[in-house]
Amino acid sequence: MTSDKKGSCYCEHCRKDVSWHINPVNHGGQLVLTLCTFGLWLPMWLAMTFSKTKFCDVCNQSITEE
Ligand SMILES: [Zn+2]
Repeated sequence: MTSDKKGSCYCEHCRKDVSWHINPVNHGGQLVLTLCTFGLWLPMWLAMTFSKTKFCDVCNQSITEE
C-alpha cells in the first residue's frame, strides 16, 4: 500500500486532496435527545460515537471513502 497518505484525503466536493478532521460528538446534546425520545435516539448516538466520519477542512462536507 503506497497510497496511504496521512493527513490528506480526496474530497469529491472540492475535487482535490484536502486535509480533514473528525467532528467531536456533542455528548451533552445527544444525551438530551436520547432523554427526549425515551431512548430511541440511543442507537444514533452510539453510531455517531463509533463512526469516525472524516470532514473536509476546506468545505466541511463529510468525506466518503471508497
Ligand atoms: Zn472539500
